[in-house]
Amino acid sequence: MPAGEDDIFLNAIQRLDSAAQFAEIDEEALEKLRHPKSILQVSIPVRMDDGTLRIFQGYRVRHDDTRGPTKGGIRFHPGVHLGEVKALAFWMTCKCAVVGIPFGGGKGGVIVDPKQLSRMELERLSRGYIDRVADFIGPETDIPAPDVYTNAMIMGWMMDEYSKIHRKRTPDVITGKPVPLGGSLGRGDATGRGAYYCIKELERLKNWQPSEISVAVQGFGNAGQHVARLLHADGYRVVAVSDSRGGVYREDGLDIPRLIESKNRTRRIDAVYCEGSVCDCPSCGTGECHCENCQCGDGAQSTAISNAELLELDVEILIPAALENQITIENASQIKAPVVVEVANGPTTNAADQVLSEQGKLVVPDILANAGGVTVSYFEWVQNRAGFYWSEEEVQDRLHRIMAKEFNAIYDLMTKHKIDMRTAAYTQALKRIGDAIESQGTCRYFSNGTSTS
Ligand code: NAD
Repeated sequence: MPAGEDDIFLNAIQRLDSAAQFAEIDEEALEKLRHPKSILQVSIPVRMDDGTLRIFQGYRVRHDDTRGPTKGGIRFHPGVHLGEVKALAFWMTCKCAVVGIPFGGGKGGVIVDPKQLSRMELERLSRGYIDRVADFIGPETDIPAPDVYTNAMIMGWMMDEYSKIHRKRTPDVITGKPVPLGGSLGRGDATGRGAYYCIKELERLKNWQPSEISVAVQGFGNAGQHVARLLHADGYRVVAVSDSRGGVYREDGLDIPRLIESKNRTRRIDAVYCEGSVCDCPSCGTGECHCENCQCGDGAQSTAISNAELLELDVEILIPAALENQITIENASQIKAPVVVEVANGPTTNAADQVLSEQGKLVVPDILANAGGVTVSYFEWVQNRAGFYWSEEEVQDRLHRIMAKEFNAIYDLMTKHKIDMRTAAYTQALKRIGDAIESQGTCRYFSNGTSTS
């Protein structure tokens, strides 16, 4: 592994040490969690549309399966590397334990810029990845799902490929599938919805009036769009959103449903504020518009902002929902939002986290805030195995109960031990994982001569 690539994993597992004292976990159990169970690296040959052959590199990591089969998404991104996949798999182990679902942690990734591929090339790559990992994954061993730049259709192709290889229809090998192929109702918005339920608990605890609460969302993909949509529908003022190309800010609040519609149609989030005659920008409607200041239909101004500027906005809630390492030691002291809800995995580095904690910010950590996705993935797996499907209301109701219960348990741990919410979440996860590892027997059991007879 190239120098530095494992840093993200080493940083991730540092969280274990700070939570261990509160979780009273056995040192052997901790040591087990410092090492992924197994790692697979694959080369995936793909025939491109022009007839040439390209070889893509991919990974699948199973971090720990003490509490159940490993579970975790597959990421298609040019920045994927083994250290990142290991860290993401570790976070999945902790996340599944935080919400008490019977899974361990896994993750996969392919080094690719999917925006450069045609749809046919993307399908061949997705099927090629499954061909390479087909003996490593399985409904009772390791169950993938979508992550950054992978979606329900890709999960459908992957399930189909796995089923072909094993000559048996196997919907429970992968979650996040399209509903007609065995996906669960309510999976599409589950990650954003889980974060929204966390914010609703904060609203109750802090007596918030939604209209007085401003929100900025970095990353306007699956997770970011849904949390923005649900908060907007409740009257929260979502003043800024961004994607990889930049963002848009509007003090009175953005029209989130229109932005979602526009982003999904044009792939640009500024388009809705730059189209048509209401916009002052001369290049409006050309698809090249990067308006600095656009006049909107109701006369209010919207402003183009960078991702860096979005993070430092003076808002009540900041929601990083893009990639890792967005809040770093360089910008942590500039973060003004008193509440950060981590929808992305690992958006805050350890050093930045320390700064936020010293400044008294409340950080709802990723392993809790974005656990709605894996929770409904678990529901999907249960439904696939039972062959009996639930209504969307039932899915949402079960998700709500889990998120509210675990949020409050972690909030109480935070208050009881006077620790930050991240340490509290890891404490809860470590208690559950530690109990499972100790149930198999540790040094304490084997060295003191205890016998069951
Ligand atoms: P997605 O591919 O649907 O969207 C990602 C978004 O981030 C896109 O809008 C993209 O333009 C934007 N983005 C990419 N690079 C950026 C940058 N440098 N700055 C700002 N924006 C950038 O992915 P997603 O599924 O919404 O995942 C987003 C985050 O949420 C990831 O960290 C992922 O691991 C995490 N997550 C997702 C799920 C899920 O179910 N989708 C579950 C748990 C965690």
